[in-house]
Order: sequence, then C-alpha cells, then structure tokens
Amino acid sequence: MEELVKKWDEILVSLQNEYEIANISFESWIKPLEVFQIEDNSLYLVYQSESSDKFALNYISKKFKTPLRTTIAEVTGAEYEIIIISPEKANEIKKEKNVSINVQEISKPTEIRRAMGNSTINPRYTFDNFVVGRNNRFAQTAALAVAESPGEFYNPLYLYGGPGLGKTHLMQAIGNYIEDQNPNTHILYVTSEEFTNEVIENMRTSNNATAMQRFRDKYRTVDVLMVDDIQFIIGKEATQEEFFHTFNALHAMGKQIVISSDKPPKDMETLDDRFKSRFDMGLMADIGYPDYETRMAILNKKIEEKNFNLDESIRKYIAENIQSNIREIEGALNKLIAFSRLEKIDITMDIAERELQNFISPNISREVTPQLIIEVVAEHFNITVDQMASKNRASSVVRPRQIAMYLCNTMTDSSLKAIGLLLGGRDHTTIIHGANKISDEINEDENTRNLVETIKKKINPN
Ligand code: ADP
Ligand code: MG
Repeated sequence: MEELVKKWDEILVSLQNEYEIANISFESWIKPLEVFQIEDNSLYLVYQSESSDKFALNYISKKFKTPLRTTIAEVTGAEYEIIIISPEKANEIKKEKNVSINVQEISKPTEIRRAMGNSTINPRYTFDNFVVGRNNRFAQTAALAVAESPGEFYNPLYLYGGPGLGKTHLMQAIGNYIEDQNPNTHILYVTSEEFTNEVIENMRTSNNATAMQRFRDKYRTVDVLMVDDIQFIIGKEATQEEFFHTFNALHAMGKQIVISSDKPPKDMETLDDRFKSRFDMGLMADIGYPDYETRMAILNKKIEEKNFNLDESIRKYIAENIQSNIREIEGALNKLIAFSRLEKIDITMDIAERELQNFISPNISREVTPQLIIEVVAEHFNITVDQMASKNRASSVVRPRQIAMYLCNTMTDSSLKAIGLLLGGRDHTTIIHGANKISDEINEDENTRNLVETIKKKINPN
C-alpha cells in the first residue's frame, strides 16, 4: 500500500501517456482518484470530486478500470481488482475502520484548446471555457463522457434546459473535443430548423429519388449527429418521421447522437411515444438556472476572454440582476463593451444602469421592442447588430435585415420611420419594401415560413 501511494503520481502520469488521455479528461476523471485501501486483492480508489455521483463513478469504472489495472501492474508488478468509490462511501468505511484519508483541493484545468476544420462546429465553444456550477455539473460531466467515448455508453445524450443556459455550448464542446482527439470523425451538427428545411427541400423534389438518397447519405454516414433545439420539429410530421428513421439507423450502427431541447421528453406533449422510449435508452441531463456565484464566474470568464475592464460593482450589478439566461448576461456585457469602445470612456454605474435597462427589468416579462427583434435576428444569423444597421449589401446581411424589418413591422407598433432609424437610418420606403418582400416569401415558401416562425419563438417564447 505504501509503495503504491508513493508511486501513485508516477502511475497516473504513465497512464495518461500510455493511453493518450486528454488533459481535461485526466483532470476530470483520473487526477481526483486517490488510493484509499487495499483489501484482499482489491484496490479501493476514492474519487475526490464534487461531481462524485453514481454516474461519474460508473463511467470511470467502465472507461478506466482496465487501463488502471494494467498500468498499476506495470509500475508495481502487482495486479489488483479496482474498485472506485465516492468520498461518502470512503467515510463510511473509514468510520467503521478508522482509516484516515486526506481530502484534496481539485485544481481546474485552464488550458484553452482550439479545434478547426469542420464548418458545423464553432471552435469558440469548448469544455475549457465552459464554467461549471451546481446547475450544470451533471450535464457537463455527461457531455464530457460522451465526447470521450462517442457511441459507447450513453446514446443518445439528451440535454435540456431553458434558453441561454449553455446547451449549444456543451454540444459544440463535444464536437470540438471529438474533432481534437480524432480529426477523422465525421461530426454533423444541425439545428432542427436546418434539418426541417432539408426534409422539406427533399419532399419538394421527391420525383427525384436521388435527392432523398443524397439526404440519407448525408445523415446516415456520420459518426456523430447533433440536433440542436429538437422542440422545433415536434408536430412537423414528415420531419419527425425522417428524424426517427435517421435516429434508428445511426443508433443501430453505434453512432453517437446528441439532442438538445428546452424540455424533457415527458413534457413534450405532442412528442410521439416511440421517441420517448428511444430517448430513454440513453442519458438525460438537465441544465438548471445558475446561482449567483456561477453567474459571476461566467461573467468574469467572458470579461477575461474579451479583455475588458469592468468595475467589480458593475459586475455584481449584472450578475445580481440577470438571473435566468447566460446569453443575456453576455448581451449586457457586449452592450457595455460596445458603448465603452464607441465613446472611448470607462463604464460607470450610471452608464451601466442606463444602457442595460432593456436587460434588467425585474419581474416584468420583456417587452417586444424593435431593438430586441434586431438583436435576436442578428444572433440567429450569427452577425452583429452593427452589421444589421450598416450599408453592407451582402445577401448574408441583407436577408436578416429584411426579416428584422418584417418582424419589427408586424410584432411592434413602432413607426416605419423609427424602425428605419434603428436599422442605420434607412428610409421608410426601404423598410416597407423589405417587410413586404419577406411577407410575400412567407406566403409562397415553407422554408421562410419556418425560419420566421423559429425566430418569432426566440423573440417571444410564450
Ligand atoms: P442555449 O443553447 O442553452 O440556449 P447557449 O449554449 O447558446 O445556450 O449559451 C448562451 C451563451 O451563454 C453562449 O455564449 C455560451 O457560451 C454562454 N454560456 C452558457 N453557459 C455557460 C457556462 N457554463 N460557461 C460559459 N459560458 C456559458
Ligand atoms: Mg442553443
């Protein structure tokens, strides 16, 4: 036992090298393991971590037992049966036997990893820059386990939680991680809206069997399929049907599927029961609302990433007042950064209070304003509010701008003139022209109809 403890660090280093375990994985699963006791031929290891639940213990056992046994045997010459236990369990045993263990502080990984190359995965979202708190610890651990062992243990992974709480971030982190570890893995990330549009596109050209074949080739040859915001396909018959077959085909081949939604399957009333049973085969993990400490930690992380200076009192003001959506915390921060850079001044509390009025309106459900619409549309298309208001004529900007014109015109009472001013001082005839163009498209084209419907739900989820 003494020898084992003395050589423990050496064993772990050798394990990491031998099995090429990534740092974040090593930090999450291996480093927290401590030698607890040897009894008969069994070596008990305590997993000293805040996320020491049944899931984590189970996963470590499945994934690392054999590598541990082998490495220990190589370093010490002795072969043990490995048993991994929680700190609580260790304490129970300790009470019975009076064995002492020392609890050690776990250090968080800080290394930033970058993965590039697959157009569907955004390298900005990684495990390294995902702040773990009570609300998302389980989801983060589950996502990491899937990222390390795609298709092996937890299939599908179903992540759910309210808007802006990190579902997309975690999915993208899984993608980045897998790509980093194994660049040949074929990963496909789609929003359910993209999936829907492709199904519809196919049905339109259904006289052409090759279109369907192309679709199936695309979706059924991937190693990892991620479908974000699955709630939007519910009730769309043809899309659900196609997704069901895609799911079954991939699952049968042991390919990993990751799904996100705003609710658990049991609360999706119109979801077919056959889906519910499929989703039950895998692992479900929810993300709840972050507490104050977690909100503050996330805010600090974003401020650090963006290299910005912001007073502690203003950080507190944001973290205290924006409680249920991390995207809004980021939005508030971005607004202050933009203001500070434009006006070339430091943000004071007065400025923050004035600029963040729209974000911070406790107990009142947010009013749908043209500003809000423009922000949501910009985010949906992954462009900036500045681009929306600019003279840029690229179609990637023109179309979102026209959609914003349409939505401002139909969802608010603002005048055309006011909308025009917000969109870079455009004249009211331009606004009416843009709004009409989208309105015509909605009547003629199902894709546009779906797109606008999705954005509307983002603006006003009720
Ligand atoms: P969802 O898909 O659940 O609506 P997102 O994953 O898009 O939410 O998250 C919204 C924003 O908040 C993203 O920019 C994301 O990086 C950030 N975010 C959410 N949770 C965290 C977290 N735990 N750590 C760091 N950033 C987070
Ligand atoms: Mg999302």
